[in-house]
Amino acid sequence: MTVPSSQRLRCELCQVEIDCQPGLPDQVLFSRGPGGTRSKLWARVCQYLTTGEQKARCINQVPTLRGDEKPGDRYEDLSSIDLGGNQT
Ligand SMILES: [Zn+2]
Repeated sequence: MTVPSSQRLRCELCQVEIDCQPGLPDQVLFSRGPGGTRSKLWARVCQYLTTGEQKARCINQVPTLRGDEKPGDRYEDLSSIDLGGNQT
């Protein structure tokens, strides 16, 4: 019995990695901060790519893979990120 293996893709352009696990939504691992979805990656990074060369290198340019942008995908929730951590 073969276990489907997950694979990790890396977008050099956007500086993120995407964990692809069978049966699960792709998990985007940002260089900092919590992980997210492909739509989040798109909302924050990939949509700002302009040239054809950039888009050709980006691994998150497929609309059917990333899905629709969702509330909170953009940076507007940045202020809610806990930067303090361990103040006492
Ligand atoms: Zn990208």
